[in-house]
Amino acid sequence: MPPVLSDVIAALDALWPPALAEDWDATGLVCGDPHAPVSRVLFAVDPVREIAEEAIETGAQLLITHHPLYLRGTTTVAADTFKGRVVHELIKHDVALFVAHTNADRADPGVSDALAAALGLRVTGPLVPDPTDPAGRRGLGRICALDRPLGPEEFARHAAQRLPATAQGIRLATDPAAPQGPIRTVAVCGGSGDSLFGAARAAGVDAYLTADLRHHPASEAREHTGLTLVDAAHWATEWPWCEQAAAQLDAVAQRHGWELRTHVSRRVTDPWTVQAPSVTTDTTPGAPN
Ligand SMILES: [Zn+2]
Repeated sequence: MPPVLSDVIAALDALWPPALAEDWDATGLVCGDPHAPVSRVLFAVDPVREIAEEAIETGAQLLITHHPLYLRGTTTVAADTFKGRVVHELIKHDVALFVAHTNADRADPGVSDALAAALGLRVTGPLVPDPTDPAGRRGLGRICALDRPLGPEEFARHAAQRLPATAQGIRLATDPAAPQGPIRTVAVCGGSGDSLFGAARAAGVDAYLTADLRHHPASEAREHTGLTLVDAAHWATEWPWCEQAAAQLDAVAQRHGWELRTHVSRRVTDPWTVQAPSVTTDTTPGAPN
């Protein structure tokens, strides 16, 4: 028998407890009828229009995304806004939308566990532990060990190979003129992780891999300690969670004997679609070749 949506939500809330979410976050059910049966579920990072369309094409009754559709509340779901259009399309086709965001970041296993697994890294603990977890496994980011030490550039190439492909690829901040020792330990954080530089420094890791690194925080972090920084596309650092989450829900469905199939979207919804590498070594902006 397929479960009803409220049964599935109870299972999702056990995997990624809503209480773990940040105060500012908006997680849980966005639209959908708790009494409706669910036999197909699609997982994706972003609740954008092409993902809503994929859920409809897949025949899913439930779309689970990592990013919220509405983070700050709204007074309209009119279909002439992109978010309202998504809500309309989903409701018109009986597709529910459920969000697991910072609660999935902090959970055990969480978003950064999936990132570490995608990179083939061994997790040794959280980067910012959750003080309410006696097992010491929940929290933000993860500290990881490499089975074989890699040079910084070698590690960047390894990450580029292991993470899903994006236009951005991998950016590396290291000093080729003063090569540091090989990378043996790495902190990873799925999504925008430049607020965790202090924790990465305090953890004494050789490198920090995250997304959305900005000039000033990255520059200052480099000046402080020479910590090697590895910047991946936001979507690429969080997409591995979709596969982990689908496998978790598969295991729950098997335990309950539910007729439920999970699918993971492979559409790249990172907003950056083209990267043009610089072609001149002249650093004067706009200088003729
Ligand atoms: Zn994110």
